[in-house]
Amino acid sequence: MYQDRELTCRDCGNPFTFTVGEQEFYASKGLENSPRRCPECRRAAKSGRSDGPSRGGYSSGGGGGGGYGSGGGYDRAPRQMTDAVCAQCGGPTQVPFVPRGDRPVYCSDCYAQIRGSSYSGSR
Ligand SMILES: [Zn+2]
Ligand SMILES: [Zn+2]
Repeated sequence: MYQDRELTCRDCGNPFTFTVGEQEFYASKGLENSPRRCPECRRAAKSGRSDGPSRGGYSSGGGGGGGYGSGGGYDRAPRQMTDAVCAQCGGPTQVPFVPRGDRPVYCSDCYAQIRGSSYSGSR
């Protein structure tokens, strides 16, 4: 004889009833284990995992620490840095644009110097 059993869903933690009919169904399939999930979660698992409540999934890992943390501007292309030579000190530098040749390119140090000092004085 079968009788309804109260089980607890492994996924959502909600109690659900393992009905006599289901137990008979399971027995007819030769399954001796009781179901671990409530019918809702079973259905969700069957119909594809995409729209289920994805709690405790991959996203909340937190391990290495990537660089993407700031802001949500994912669609903006990463800034392309171009190798250039500083017109002042001759050292290699990188600029966030493609130098056309009609403008001198400075490394950050020299650029800061130039901005800071030389344009201030006008004799
Ligand atoms: Zn469930
Ligand atoms: Zn320089």
